[in-house]
This record gives sequence, C-alpha cells and structure tokens, in this order.
Amino acid sequence: MLQTKGYAVQDAASGFASFDFERRDLGANDVLIEIQFCGVCHSDIHQARDEWGGSIYPMVPGHEIVGRVARTGADVSKFKEGDFAGVGCFVDSCGDCENCRQDVEQFCLVHCSQTYNSTEMDKKTPTFGGYSSQIVVDENYALKISDTENLAAVAPLLCAGITTYSPLRRFNVREGQKVGIVGLGGLGHMGVKLAASMGAEVTVFSTSPSKEQDAKNLGAHNFVVSKEPENMKPLKGKFDFILDCVSANHDLAVYLNLLKFNGAMVLVGAPEKPAEVNAFSLISNNRTLAGSGIGGIAETQEMLDYCAEKGITSDIEIIQIQDIEKAYERTIKSDVRYRFVINMQSLGQV
Ligand code: NAP
Ligand code: ZN
Repeated sequence: MLQTKGYAVQDAASGFASFDFERRDLGANDVLIEIQFCGVCHSDIHQARDEWGGSIYPMVPGHEIVGRVARTGADVSKFKEGDFAGVGCFVDSCGDCENCRQDVEQFCLVHCSQTYNSTEMDKKTPTFGGYSSQIVVDENYALKISDTENLAAVAPLLCAGITTYSPLRRFNVREGQKVGIVGLGGLGHMGVKLAASMGAEVTVFSTSPSKEQDAKNLGAHNFVVSKEPENMKPLKGKFDFILDCVSANHDLAVYLNLLKFNGAMVLVGAPEKPAEVNAFSLISNNRTLAGSGIGGIAETQEMLDYCAEKGITSDIEIIQIQDIEKAYERTIKSDVRYRFVINMQSLGQV
C-alpha cells in the first residue's frame, strides 16, 4: 500500500486536520499521480459539513485534481511517467452499462465511484480525494492536460469547467443567443467564460454588486443585481438559456420568468433544501427546467482540449492547505474570486 498524506474532516463539525492514509498499490491499468494542485469546490463544503446527508468520514475532499504521473502500471498506454494528468469527480464505474456505454459514466447504473465521500467498485473501500499528496487511478478515468503552463488554473476545469460546459453544449448555446448565468462563483465564472466563447450574449445575475467589473472582465456583456425586483422586470421573456450556479436556496420563478418561448433553465447549483416550482412558470412559453451533473470522461477531455485551444482557464487564488477553513468561510460568504486552489506542496509543511 502507498502511504499518503492528506487533510481530512472527522465529522461534520470537526474542522480539518492532517490525516495519513493508504492508497492501493498500482494495478496494471493504474497511474500514480503526484498531486500538485487541487481546486476547492462548493461541493467539498456541502459534503464535508454533511449538508446533503449521508457523508462518509473521515473525509478527504477534493475533485479538481492536477499533477504529474509518477508511475504507471504495466498495461498503461495513455500516460507515461512525467506527463501531466487530471482527475475530476469520479475515479471508476462499471464501464459496461447503458450509461457508461453512452459516455456518461457519472451516471453508471452499477456504481459511480466518486473521487471522495464514496467507495471503490467493491462498494466497501472508501475513496479519498485531492486534498492529499498523491492518488492512484485507472488510466481511463484520468484526463490528459495539455495546458501545462497554467496548471493551477486548469485544476478547476475538472469540476467547475465540465459542469458548466456540458449543459451549454447539450442545449446548443451559440452565437445570437441570450444566456443568463446566475451566481458568480467558481461554476458561474466558468459559465460566463464558456458561454461567451461560444458566441452568446451573456448576462450575469448576482447578489454581489461589487462583482460587476469582474463579470465584464470575464466576458459578460451585462450585469444585473438580482436582489432588486425592479431590475428583473424588463428582462421578462428575453432569455434563450439560463444556467443556475447558486449554492444556496433561492426562488427559481424569478429566473424561469425570464425565459422566452422554448427557453431552458438548467440547475447545476445544488442547495441543501428542495425548491418550489409553480407549474405556470413552466407552462407559459413552453419552458424547460432541467438539471445537469458534471460530465463523462470523453466530454471532460473535449472540454479540456477546447479550453486549451481557446486559452480558457479559471481565475484563481492559490492557498496553502492550512488555510482551507478560511477559504471555506470566504466561499460561503460569496467572497471567492473565483476559485480557491490549494498548492499541495504545502502538505509537506504539516
Ligand atoms: P461558489 O463558488 O460558492 O459560488 C456560488 C455562488 O452563488 C456565489 O458566489 C454567489 O454568487 C451565489 N450565492 C451564494 N449564496 C447565495 C444566496 N443565498 N442567494 C443567491 N445567490 C447566492 O460555489 P460553486 O463551487 O460554484 O458551486 C455552486 C453550486 O454548484 C454548489 O451547490 C455546488 O455543490 C454545485 N455543484 C454542482 C455540480 C453538478 O454536477 N451539478 C458540480 C459542482 C458543483 P453571487 O455573489 O454572484 O450572487
Ligand atoms: Zn465540484
């Protein structure tokens, strides 16, 4: 077994402390990745604090992982030692069910082994995420990274990037369309960059007036302070597509009403409590309300290659692992610009 250093919570209220654990020895198809950077997703906070229920402890969060391949198993062909590699929200699936065969392994009908707060395919061995020194993963579930100059800023693409890219592609967002992005955090700011890169006219809906200039710099054309009902009235029925990236409970009707005929709103934000939906906000204009969960391996690779080609990375603030609690508090206060990324070398100092 491979001795690994990490940072873990012991229960929903414990806070983080160093945690040594073992990774499995390399199998024939596995790669060992020395983790250099790991993004901090709001899902880490939801799960570390058991806001979605069913959390497994001790928990080493982190699913925006980038690093270097340190060793490869005997049958590995996709990577060689020294290559850069990424790991996103899941590390295994059956590979054979209807969903895996359609490249949506995140919805594997047998078991999607998530990167942390989950179990391996045996449904027993706990998985530990990227707030750690190294990870062992089947090469088929690791991503190739070509933009190696901006490694830290590529890390958030592994979750925030694919989670916003996938629904934008599924709903064929394109030039000439009006797109709304709700909530300018880690996911939201990637949504702005990606939707703008696809040619859409992008409007950010934010509760933080101070983010206006940033929104424009990220590529948004318009910025609306969503707390003011007066600001929303003239926008009724104007949008083709809205991506809701908000981490806390809020009124969906406010945004559904902004959709034009056949418009769609996709929820990627995952607040603690269910939302209420009035049927008439959907009946009017034949609107669609949908959800979207990360993306499969093939689409994640497509997104990484697309971002490398377009020069798209995340706007980040690099932190040391010792500052993780402070980063969580700032994220919860919507004071993240726009993704915290942990420099995992700081683990060596704990
Ligand atoms: P984040 O960086 O904390 O961003 C969330 C943003 O939501 C905040 O910056 C803020 O933007 C807005 N917001 C926060 N509290 C609000 C409130 N009370 N009312 C209205 N707006 C509020 O979080 P993230 O990492 O982007 O994640 C966002 C959500 O997506 C989380 O729930 C996360 O678990 C979920 N997620 C889902 C998937 C998926 O596959 N579907 C994948 C990853 C994450 P403003 O300051 O602009 O208002
Ligand atoms: Zn995430």
